[in-house]
Amino acid sequence: MSKPVIWQEVKWRDVKKVAEEVGIAILPIGATEQHGYHCPNGVDFFNAYEISKRVSARTGAIVAPPMPYGSHPYFHYGFVGTIPLRATTQIEFVRDVVKGLVNSGFRKIIIVQAHGQWWTIHTAVQEIALDVDCFMAVATWWELACEKIKEVCSTPFKHADEVETSVSLALYPELCDMSLAVPDYSLKPYVDKKFVRPAVHSDLINAFPIEAITSVPQESKAMQTGAPGDPRLATAEKGEAIVSTAVDVIVSLIEDLKKNYKPNEWPRIKPDLKEDMY
Ligand SMILES: [Zn+2]
Repeated sequence: MSKPVIWQEVKWRDVKKVAEEVGIAILPIGATEQHGYHCPNGVDFFNAYEISKRVSARTGAIVAPPMPYGSHPYFHYGFVGTIPLRATTQIEFVRDVVKGLVNSGFRKIIIVQAHGQWWTIHTAVQEIALDVDCFMAVATWWELACEKIKEVCSTPFKHADEVETSVSLALYPELCDMSLAVPDYSLKPYVDKKFVRPAVHSDLINAFPIEAITSVPQESKAMQTGAPGDPRLATAEKGEAIVSTAVDVIVSLIEDLKKNYKPNEWPRIKPDLKEDMY
């Protein structure tokens, strides 16, 4: 496997070469957030960056500097270790970074995001599409590896649990301390859990997605460890199966883009309007 191309580690003429020969950039977006007693605060940031590097090594696409902060649902606010951005701050941040990538010659951008903030990143993509003519795709590992997670894990993904801790053990085991991992089912939602779909892998289909119903109390007051579920079920093998599945999907999207568009071409998205109304 070749080495990843990392924006902040190379010189500007190296960036130009990748723009001219590949034309695809990867933008990792994480979050800084508590991940229980046993995992580091940078889990989402590390996951986005490590997955991006693996994709780069296989495709030659360049990895832009990772965004370490993320936006958060209301119930994350107030937990020690968590540093939330407002959704509006994040959307404008992503817009400016995308413009910077476009100005360096990249009009095909894969956003590798690794935190429960998809409503913000998806909104960012729709907002930016009115403003900048570039191809964007949001790659969220637990969506791309949804079937694999169901296959290898016994619980649906929530946070710092069996699923996410497995990914941490696969990518940076030295920062995890499994002797501190304990089960935590202390968080009690405001409404019966049959109404709330906690994750994409949940079999509970006829219910409200968790980000669409204010069903959860403030976690810092209502949860003991910060890690709902049982992280003791995590293994590096499960994590590797999940990560490699997600990486394979992103690599195949990039290969498809390479096949259909030259490095300086892109699927046009900016609507052609009579007036610049937006
Ligand atoms: Zn996380």
